[in-house]
Amino acid sequence: MTLRFFQGERFGLAGRFWQAGVAGLAFLALSVQAVVAQVQVTPLPVTNEEWEQPYEGFRVVGNLYHVGTYDLSAFLITTDEGHILINSGVASSVAMIRQNIEDLGFNFEDIKIITATHAHHDHVAGLGEIQDLTGAETYFHEFEVPVVTTGGNDDYRYPNRGVIYEPIEVDHVLTDGSTIELGGVVLTVHHHPGHTRGAVSFTYDVEEGGETYHVLIANMGSVNQSTNFANMPGFPDVAEAYAKTFASQKAMNPDIWVASHAGHFALHEKRQPGDAYDPQRFYDPEGWHEEVNRYEALYLERLAADMSAAAGGGASPAPAPADDGHGH
Ligand SMILES: [Zn+2]
Ligand SMILES: [Zn+2]
Repeated sequence: MTLRFFQGERFGLAGRFWQAGVAGLAFLALSVQAVVAQVQVTPLPVTNEEWEQPYEGFRVVGNLYHVGTYDLSAFLITTDEGHILINSGVASSVAMIRQNIEDLGFNFEDIKIITATHAHHDHVAGLGEIQDLTGAETYFHEFEVPVVTTGGNDDYRYPNRGVIYEPIEVDHVLTDGSTIELGGVVLTVHHHPGHTRGAVSFTYDVEEGGETYHVLIANMGSVNQSTNFANMPGFPDVAEAYAKTFASQKAMNPDIWVASHAGHFALHEKRQPGDAYDPQRFYDPEGWHEEVNRYEALYLERLAADMSAAAGGGASPAPAPADDGHGH
């Protein structure tokens, strides 16, 4: 592995972050690499068979393609200078993603940039392998850096849970408003914390058939099963983080939007296998606001329940239930 940190200077916000923190982070990276050499990856079990069920790659709109599995989204944005890959699914998804990319007529090796909507294993566990195979540069929000560089052994719900996926080397650090640029595509990063500390969504404009579409690749504000809003020592302001995310998402007005899981954007209602390309298929401006409001209502319900339980019993809230480390 090599250190490629100074390439972060290409990006304004990330560049300033690096100027301030490069020494500390270089030390962190060296420590992580030392750990990587010693620790064994113990993957979490895959509890949802739809995560590993193959699904054909297809074009969403313009240069945006879905190349993931039946439920785990992976998005390919193609350009003349190579491609951007967002999310990998679980580790076993890599071969399916590669096949989907090749079936669509693109080269897997042309992936130049790797990023993710959030650093849970069902979205990033294959990215380390893809990084090794392609040499692509990686971009993560600053709050996801400690998570991905330790292979998931930094989770606000489960401190020191162990290395659950191949650690990912981070080349470029993102903050709210950062951009990722390749071959004329400019993705804008939107920090949408809560589900994880450094979850993000991406927006860009796509020209297609004489129309310009505002496209959003979203991370929805779903609440993890084991998050307790009354007692979350690893992320004390998790409730405020969700509130910030919903405020941001309500202010967004995408024409076309997709998200981290198929179930989050009704993929299988909007599209059947074999359907022809139709840029209108995922055109759903009203559905976006309906879904954001639905997730916010679920969040408010959980928040009220957790606070009520904490206040009512007088004792500490019950320990967080065990789950598979994931709440979508
Ligand atoms: Zn997920
Ligand atoms: Zn998740």
